[in-house]
Amino acid sequence: MIPITAVDVRDAEPLVVEVLRSGTLAQGPMVARFEDGFARAAGTAHAIAVNSGTTALVATLQALGLGPGDEVITTPFTFVATLNAILETGATVRFADITREDFAIDPDAVATAITPRTRAILPVHLYGQTANLGKLVPLAEEHGLHLVEDAAQAVGATFAGRPAGSFGVGCFSLYATKNVTTGEGGVITTDDDDLADRLRLLRNQGMRSRYAYELAGHNYRMSELHAAVGIPQLAKLDELVTARRRNARQLSVGLAGTPGLALPVELPGREHVWHQYSVLIGPHAMLARDELITELTERGVGTGVYYPKLVFDHDCFRGHPQIPEVSPAGFPVAARVADEVLSLPVHPALSESDVDTVVREVREALGA
Ligand SMILES: *Cc1c(COP(=O)(O)O)cnc(C)c1O
Repeated sequence: MIPITAVDVRDAEPLVVEVLRSGTLAQGPMVARFEDGFARAAGTAHAIAVNSGTTALVATLQALGLGPGDEVITTPFTFVATLNAILETGATVRFADITREDFAIDPDAVATAITPRTRAILPVHLYGQTANLGKLVPLAEEHGLHLVEDAAQAVGATFAGRPAGSFGVGCFSLYATKNVTTGEGGVITTDDDDLADRLRLLRNQGMRSRYAYELAGHNYRMSELHAAVGIPQLAKLDELVTARRRNARQLSVGLAGTPGLALPVELPGREHVWHQYSVLIGPHAMLARDELITELTERGVGTGVYYPKLVFDHDCFRGHPQIPEVSPAGFPVAARVADEVLSLPVHPALSESDVDTVVREVREALGA
C-alpha cells in the first residue's frame, strides 16, 4: 500500500536524547532554537511556538483582542480547527466562497461579506498553496482589518517571493502529518513586536516574570521534546519541499489528459509546497469520487478526502449563536469541490516508482 502520508523524524533522535539527558522538559532552550529556525524560514522577526495549530489561531485572535460582537471572515472549505478557533474567542463567523483554482477564499466574496462589525479576514492556504494574498492584503488594509493566515498546511510556500505567514499574522500547525512536524505543535509568526510580546504572555499564563501577571493567559507552551523533533526538519525544509514539488510535477505530467480529472495547478507568482495533491473528479469521470477511492484502495493506493463537507455543515454547528444561518448552496464553488475533491500521495518518502504506480493505477481506474 502506498500511504497518503508518511512521517519520518528518525534524524531527530540525537536532539531528543539531548533533551532527555538535560532534564529540562518544559519550554526552554530547544524551543527557542526551534523558534529561531522557524522565524528564519518564515522571514519574520518573531516566531512564537505553541502546542498546536489550533492554539496558534486561538492565541492570535485573542491577542488581537477579538471577542463577542466582532466578525471574522473565513472559508467554509477548511479543517474544523479554523472554525473552532474563531468560536472559542466568542466572535461571530462569516463565510465567503472559494475559488476553484486555489481552493482558497475568493477575495471578491470576502469584499461582499465585510460589515461594520468585521475585524479580521482569516484565509486558509489550503493544500500548501497560498490564498490570493495580492488581493487580500490590500482589501484588509483598505478596511482596517487584521489579516490572520491559517498557514497550517503551507510552511515554506510563497506568494510573490514572500513566505506564507509573513503577510498578516501567520498560524502554522506542526501536527504529525503536516509538512514540518513536532508530533503536536504550532507556531505564530509576526513582525509586530507588541503582538509577539502579548502572544508570549498569553502562552504562559499572562506571566511576565515569576508570579507577575499582566493579563489573563493560558498554557499554550510547547515542550522541549516536541521542539527537538522539529529542528532537523527546519534545517532540511528546502529538501522536503523540493521532493514534494518533484512528486507533484511527476503526477501532473503522468495524469495529464485523464478523462474526467481536473489537476491542481500552481498559480503564477505562487510557490506551492504540496501538502496535498488534490484532484477533482468531475461528473464525466468513469467512476464517481467514492467509487474511485474504493478502486484505488484495492489497487494499493491510499487517498484522502480533505474535506468531504463544508465546515459548518454538521449538526453541532446548526443554530450555533456565533454562526449565521448558512447552507452549502450559498457557497456553490466550495460545495462542488467538497463533492469532487480527492488527494493522492505526494509526500517526500515516495520514490519515483511509487509515483509512477499512483499515476498508472489512477489512469487505469479511470479508463485512460
Ligand atoms: C492542521 C490544521 C489546523 C490545526 O492544527 P492542529 O495542530 O491540528 O491543531 C488548522 N487549520 C488547518 C487548515 C489545518 O490543516
